[in-house]
Amino acid sequence: MESIREFIAASQHPHAYARALKESGTAIIGYLCSYTPEEIIHAAGLHPMRLFGSAEDISLADTHLQSYCCSLVRGALADVLAGNLEYLDGAVFPHTCDTIQRLSDIWRLNTKFRFFADVVLPVKLTTESSRAYLSDVLKKFRMDLEEAFDITITNEALHDSIQTFNTIRDMLNTLYEIRSENPSKISGRDLHGIVKGSMIMDRDAAAQALVKIADELRAEAAPPAPKRKRVLVAGSVCSHPDVYTMLEKAGAEVVWDDLCTGSRYFGGMISTSGDPIEAIAQRSFDRLICPAKHKSITIRGENLVQAAREHDARGVIFLQLKFCDPHSFDYPYLKEFLDSQHIPSMLLEVEDQLPGEGQLLTRFETFVHML
Ligand code: SF4
Ligand code: SF4
Repeated sequence: MESIREFIAASQHPHAYARALKESGTAIIGYLCSYTPEEIIHAAGLHPMRLFGSAEDISLADTHLQSYCCSLVRGALADVLAGNLEYLDGAVFPHTCDTIQRLSDIWRLNTKFRFFADVVLPVKLTTESSRAYLSDVLKKFRMDLEEAFDITITNEALHDSIQTFNTIRDMLNTLYEIRSENPSKISGRDLHGIVKGSMIMDRDAAAQALVKIADELRAEAAPPAPKRKRVLVAGSVCSHPDVYTMLEKAGAEVVWDDLCTGSRYFGGMISTSGDPIEAIAQRSFDRLICPAKHKSITIRGENLVQAAREHDARGVIFLQLKFCDPHSFDYPYLKEFLDSQHIPSMLLEVEDQLPGEGQLLTRFETFVHML
């Protein structure tokens, strides 16, 4: 499908996409974490661009960051130091994991973009005081953008942006549901490319294209569902589309995920009435939580089990970026939680490169065999 190819091309060649956008006169703000208030950036007439790190040699980052930081952050730093992100007009760093917080300081001291912001979000997302604090932080971010780019971000523009992002989230959720119902309709690899592309492409174009893809997939006659074992993938960021094809080869289908390049990105809609900043803040409280935030001791395990049950997943594959502290600390408890619910799981640690195909396939086959 032509529209799907557009998303995949953007996900495979993010810099080329961003440069073309920049040439058309759009200013671009980079970010690394899905807690970034993209709606405010978009309402300012700027383009929010998720950075995944693409430098071939991430050792460039070693001059500033310890080699025991995750490859996502090291890759993004290597990219900016190598001059691959020259199209950026600025970057925003939400206060999430320690590694992103450290990157923020290094970025501020070693780059000369027009705009830089730390958005110091609360960690505990349960109290009225943290809700009020988060709204204040977002209001300040709005003012910082207005000042730096000499613009006014109106409530009307914020409401329009909320609508656009709600459409993107709704459509991504719909595509996930379509795949969960019958994985033959859209491959895991394509869906991964669509979610990633949605964080790179012009959001108005992405929203429109997603509606079209969802309509076309709904209208298509359903091919027979494959007879593979249904699994769920959990972790932080997945930059490895090969994982999906490799799992298929091993006899499994990824029918849902708990990834910040997946369901955690599109989970949680924003109210279109009332104060738009309060509504954007509220989504951080409503969306699926990542381990860099806190709601309750057991919420992450409960969410995972619920997703596995809802989508009839027989097992969970933890796709862990090496040296990702929040997810590594979370893993033992999550595994125990799944064990208590009789849901088998396996842990796969990855870096910027996947392990060799033979080794990976054997590990996947062994796991799939026991489901
Ligand atoms: S896992 Fe959490 S802290 Fe890490 S990038 Fe995703 S949302 Fe941000
Ligand atoms: S949450 Fe993990 S993967 Fe994401 S930036 Fe932080 S350390 Fe890296």
